[in-house]
Amino acid sequence: VAYAAQSVGIDIGGTAIKAGAITPEGKILAERSVEPHFERGPQAVLDAIADVARELGAREGLGIGVPGLLKLESGFLIDSPNLPGFRNLPVPQEIARRLGCAPEGVRVWNDAKVAALGELWLGAARGERHALVLTLGTGIGGGLIFDGSVYFGSGMAGEVGHIVIDPEGPPCGCGGRGCLETLASASAAQRRALAAGLPASRPGDLKLLADRARSGSEPEAQLLREIGRDLGRGLGPVVCLLDLTCFVFGGGFSAALDTLERGIREGIDERSYGERGSKVRLVPAQLGPAAGWIGAARLAMAH
Ligand SMILES: [Zn+2]
Repeated sequence: VAYAAQSVGIDIGGTAIKAGAITPEGKILAERSVEPHFERGPQAVLDAIADVARELGAREGLGIGVPGLLKLESGFLIDSPNLPGFRNLPVPQEIARRLGCAPEGVRVWNDAKVAALGELWLGAARGERHALVLTLGTGIGGGLIFDGSVYFGSGMAGEVGHIVIDPEGPPCGCGGRGCLETLASASAAQRRALAAGLPASRPGDLKLLADRARSGSEPEAQLLREIGRDLGRGLGPVVCLLDLTCFVFGGGFSAALDTLERGIREGIDERSYGERGSKVRLVPAQLGPAAGWIGAARLAMAH
């Protein structure tokens, strides 16, 4: 394994392209956030990504995180339901052509996996051998850390968002019903709050909800405990199978972790063996929205 003096990471999201340059010691040299303008089409978005990469000096190593389904070896993007027009795209070739470098120098992974790598390298999962990094946002992303490394299986390992909790539950973007992300993502929490007659029309209202629960308001506390319990019901089988000792929660809704915690532990206990709910560590992510680009840059460091 050889490390370059710096590497560049880029995290492509639906609302922002986040990027930065960082040394192998973890010193952040520069950070950027660019509007993606998906309405201009995927080629223009790829141009913008290449521009940021060039500006940050991505000559020695470039890693990219993309939400969606990728071919693990080649980084070919099969489909990305949340990025308009991003399907059937050879992302490493497209970027390398724009930068005038070899496609082998551009590493592309799923966004949840690069976020897990970021938290493992410099964030809340540092030193953890068996952990799951969850992103509670529009959906629920998962990056599994197994035996000290991010684990892929055949490419899709860690996708806990589509574990079915309630087969009769709300329809999910994947075509199923009652998936974990239809019950415990930020969007699901908003929907459940509205259904319970609590104000939650904007994503920011989830913070208000958590604040009210903290100050002892029963309806909010009850709802967040129920959402936490559903989350725990999804994590219980994961604990049974993998004996994970730590769950790291990132994404907007993770700011409510303290109000979800009791429910999460109850849900894990309900769906696992040996009172595991009280033993696992539940911790907030530490890198915030930078986890993705930092992990992507780390990915590019190992050749
Ligand atoms: Zn689903």
